[in-house]
Amino acid sequence: MMDMDWNSLGFSYTPTDYRYVAIYHNGAWDAGMLSGDPSVVLSESACVLQYAQSCFEGLKAFSQEDGTVVCFRPDLNAARMADSCRRMEMPVFPEDRFLEAVDRTVRANRKWIPPYGSGASLYLRPFMFGTTPLIGVHSAEDFQFRMFATPVGPYFKGGIRPLRLRISDLDRAAPHGTGHIKASLNYAMSLYALTEAHALGFDENLYLDPATRTYVEETGGANVLFAAGDRLIVPLSDSILPSVTRRSLVYAAKHLLAMDVEERKVALDEVRGFTECGLCGTAAVIIPVAEINDHGKAISFAGYGPVIRKLRETLLGIQTGKLPAPEGWLRTIA
Ligand SMILES: *Cc1c(COP(=O)(O)O)cnc(C)c1O
Repeated sequence: MMDMDWNSLGFSYTPTDYRYVAIYHNGAWDAGMLSGDPSVVLSESACVLQYAQSCFEGLKAFSQEDGTVVCFRPDLNAARMADSCRRMEMPVFPEDRFLEAVDRTVRANRKWIPPYGSGASLYLRPFMFGTTPLIGVHSAEDFQFRMFATPVGPYFKGGIRPLRLRISDLDRAAPHGTGHIKASLNYAMSLYALTEAHALGFDENLYLDPATRTYVEETGGANVLFAAGDRLIVPLSDSILPSVTRRSLVYAAKHLLAMDVEERKVALDEVRGFTECGLCGTAAVIIPVAEINDHGKAISFAGYGPVIRKLRETLLGIQTGKLPAPEGWLRTIA
């Protein structure tokens, strides 16, 4: 283990010793390897640089009390990345090889895995991009699949701070577009609205469905959940990214906490009647939202209310081994 101040880690990039690299050339993936080099050298005309042919994933490995290291539901990330690749006209990196790359990347960076009880974890960032030099618009023929590891702390240093969101006038994902996959381009185009939200004192944008601007979708990088009393209400739409955290929280609410869960379209108009709101994703698990601001009209929620708290403690408990994990949720790596 490294001599590091694990408790003060934020959510930022620290290069670690090894990353996994596989190359796709002449229609096939090579054997893959661990590399000590954190840099990527590309043609100035590489497809990813000119036309953003790229997607990514994000998942975490955790130290358990008995010293083993587990990864949380990496099979779902493997499957989602395969979906992203198909939609982005990129070759799928086989799901079993994805899991093997997770194991190898975590094991090779063992000394960077934060200790049990620190609240920190080893974040894995798998990603793929087209490297073929081109000017005409078409898919690359050569690709890199890479996976690096970086130790991260809890998303918010210094405890949970309920967020303030604002309704964005810009859209995140077009109907029948790429909102349901983890394409890098979805993030590139959210940066303008994010910078504007920050300048106005908000933490994030809440996006509505672009076609009618009446239903709640999600934020730039997290799914949104609501509670009404002890009912959990989860927006559904074809352009919401299928968050692993959200699917796990919904399972936990239904099967472990015996809560009523409604997964359906949620109109912005009915949100005012809800008691709690939270954002969920791998980086932060679930964090409370105190306010959604709709063009100057504030909709307020209980800060860190009982439903969000129960969901957060349940999922963190499963990830750290304090609560029993549903079958297949934890992959033991080392
Ligand atoms: C990655 C992502 C999430 C969170 O997904 P997890 O699998 O829970 O990390 C939510 N929304 C968007 C747009 C994302 O890209």
